[in-house]
Amino acid sequence: MSPSAGSDSSARRRVISVFLTQGVAGLSVMILFTVLRQDQTRLIIQKLGPNAWVLIAIAAAFTLAMALLKFELTREIFVSLVITAAIAFLPLLGGVMTAWMIVVIGTSVRWLSMRRLAPAHDEDRPLEYVRTFAGQFGTYGIPVVLAATLYERIGGELPLAHATPANAFRVVVAGLAVIATNLLIMFMPKRAYGYTLAKIIKVDSIDAAIDLCTLPYAIVLAMSYGSMGYGAVLALAFTGIVANLIARNLAATRQRSERQLQRLASLTNIGKTISLRFTSDQLLMAIYTECRKIVDCTLFTIALLDEESNELSFELDVREDTILAKDRIPVGEGLNSWVVKHHRPLLIGSVADEARIGVKAVADSKPTESWLGVPMIARDRLIGVISIESYKKNAFGDDDLVLLTAIANQAAVALENAHLYKDLEGLTYALEQRVMERTNELREANLRLLAADRSKNQFLANMSHELRTPLNSIIGFSSVLLESTRSSIMPRLYKFLENIHAAGNHLLELINDILDLSKIEAGKMELRPEHFDLRETIAAVERVMKGFASQANVRVVTSVEAAVPRVRLDEGRLKQILFNLLSNAVKFSPQGGPVTVSAGFVSRAQSPLGVDSVRIDVADQGIGIPPDELERIFDEFYQTEEGRRSRRGGTGLGLSLTRNFVELHHGTIEVQSTPGAGSCFTLYLPIDYTEASAASVPLPVLHSSPERSVQSPS
Ligand code: ADP
Repeated sequence: MSPSAGSDSSARRRVISVFLTQGVAGLSVMILFTVLRQDQTRLIIQKLGPNAWVLIAIAAAFTLAMALLKFELTREIFVSLVITAAIAFLPLLGGVMTAWMIVVIGTSVRWLSMRRLAPAHDEDRPLEYVRTFAGQFGTYGIPVVLAATLYERIGGELPLAHATPANAFRVVVAGLAVIATNLLIMFMPKRAYGYTLAKIIKVDSIDAAIDLCTLPYAIVLAMSYGSMGYGAVLALAFTGIVANLIARNLAATRQRSERQLQRLASLTNIGKTISLRFTSDQLLMAIYTECRKIVDCTLFTIALLDEESNELSFELDVREDTILAKDRIPVGEGLNSWVVKHHRPLLIGSVADEARIGVKAVADSKPTESWLGVPMIARDRLIGVISIESYKKNAFGDDDLVLLTAIANQAAVALENAHLYKDLEGLTYALEQRVMERTNELREANLRLLAADRSKNQFLANMSHELRTPLNSIIGFSSVLLESTRSSIMPRLYKFLENIHAAGNHLLELINDILDLSKIEAGKMELRPEHFDLRETIAAVERVMKGFASQANVRVVTSVEAAVPRVRLDEGRLKQILFNLLSNAVKFSPQGGPVTVSAGFVSRAQSPLGVDSVRIDVADQGIGIPPDELERIFDEFYQTEEGRRSRRGGTGLGLSLTRNFVELHHGTIEVQSTPGAGSCFTLYLPIDYTEASAASVPLPVLHSSPERSVQSPS
């Protein structure tokens, strides 16, 4: 049984010196004992008769099998039942032969396994040699010699020929002596390794228990020779080997399944842990940390493939817990390149394997024996290679390969996601920058526009004031002249005077409209609501329109339902609305065509305004408006094709103003029209403007774009 090697170098030196001392002592004791027991050994061989060599051969084979079938019972405890062989054959072959047999076979087996599995660290090499070539003399030589001496002292028969209880008792005593001395001798190197007392007691109890369990078997084996001869010894030795084989397999199976379970659990965790990292470096470290938990990662690399330059970039290179600087090599020679080219994992057990497969590792200062590399494949694309190495031969098996492949697949997807995430981040950043730039540009443009708008409104206000003063003189004086010169000047000149008067009035109207619009735009238009009777207002508008209508030979018919109550609106603006609608209706009506104005009460339940309202329809049977232009007639300065062709004048401002006035009242305006058949403008106004404002019917600021309620007759 051997504790695992400590990595601390001072502990290592201590252990070496303990093994050396014990080894030298063991060898001396054995030589001395061999010399002293020369005759006894010869006598034993004689007593065993001509078949003595058969028994020695069986004993050697049994010891060899026991030494070879050493197995890992727990993480720290390796069980080797060579002690059982020592106890069983001591009473048959005597102390000298048993001690040499155990030590020589034990040393050979250790030496063989040492050659097969090179030590992980160079520094471990001297320790391994000392343990192998010196340690065995102390560990097994001394206990066997001591037990043999004790066996002789208590009158033990050599070779044991009679199966009596007394003899059995002596064998037990000798056996216990071997076990106890072995534990005592192993105590020192264990202390030197730095084991605590508690740990030594724990490990030794298991060790002793196992040896004690095999004690009855050893006694039966030893005593079977006297009564049954070589055959029985052979049969029992065989049984012992088989039992040991089974025990070893059981331990190995349990250990494997435990390991697999642990690996499975780690594997399920690994994806989750890896995918939580967002930068590549964090991710690579996470992959390494997770791998470390389940495979030997003393030497670990992650190389990513740079397709453009066809190079392998070693993004993470960990050598015995030291992270090396990143490096790049062209894809070509070497084990990683092999994996890249073949898209397949590569498992190498030793340097000799490399030659067999025909690959050559890139020259390394410290060559390793085992190498396992697996491709990282994301969406059918190889993005890199994960590899692990070991100085030991055959350090990795198929299950490591399967495991590393599973990790590599998850890592590949996570890395790919990290790249996508990074790209996305870059794009988002660029987009944010662009949006920010555009927002700033727009903000500046907006500020410039606001400034320009303020200047424009100011200019309009100034200009209209400047224009109105001389215009009023023109209109006023031409009106006086029209009155006073009706009969005294030539009719042609009088007509000119009339034209001057009309043009002046038209110009004044235009200026007033523009001024109103700019006031609305500037948000400075305020309504002056007052109570009035709609009938009177409509009658007044009708009176004023009469002259204009009769000139155009158009009949204006008005009607107001009895249910219409007194309203509270801005009467001046309502008159402007009605004048605009009526003058359009008259203007675009044919000769003799009727124009109707009708008003009715609409209760809040039926009104689109949600408050008690009045509905006013202004209808004509004139030229109508084509459906595609219905939306646009409310735009400032817009006139329909047909309207322009009929040369009936106008500015294109009337409807725009009308709609703004209606909406300032929290009302709505719609138009229905059929080209050639006539139009009907319908407006809803609240009975009480103040109530409508309080009910917070949304108040439109300004509509200079055609977003309004328009209906086209279908
Ligand atoms: P205008 O001063 O040109 O009448 P408006 O804004 O009042 O300006 O009207 C815009 C245009 O809408 C008119 O030029 C005309 O083409 C069309 N329009 C308005 N009312 C009618 C109507 N009752 N019948 C036909 N077309 C109309």
